[in-house]
Amino acid sequence: MLDKYSEREYTSLIVNKKEFYNMNEIEKEIMLITQEECAEVTQAISKVFRFGMNDSYKGVTNREHLEEEVGDLMCMIDLLIESGVINEAAVMTAKHEKMNKLQTWSKIFSEIN
Ligand SMILES: [Mg+2]
Repeated sequence: MLDKYSEREYTSLIVNKKEFYNMNEIEKEIMLITQEECAEVTQAISKVFRFGMNDSYKGVTNREHLEEEVGDLMCMIDLLIESGVINEAAVMTAKHEKMNKLQTWSKIFSEIN
């Protein structure tokens, strides 16, 4: 295993493994459900790309389904913060930095303004 990783990377792997096992059961459940909700948002967006926002399945449009899944994910993000798994200030910093990167590297804001 040491052949594949530098000493620093190997130490980091061990620390991460210890952190995982030290995580309590509630924190693990929050992380697990967050992971599931990320996948559900991904799937809902895929349905929009394949069939459009207004196509529906069992009386629910793809837009409504995406809204529901984004809401589920936002709930899990709130729980990640409230349970102390992640730090809200660090999340907000990352959010603002992403917004700045998008203003530089994407067409999103030129399309909106
Ligand atoms: Mg969901």
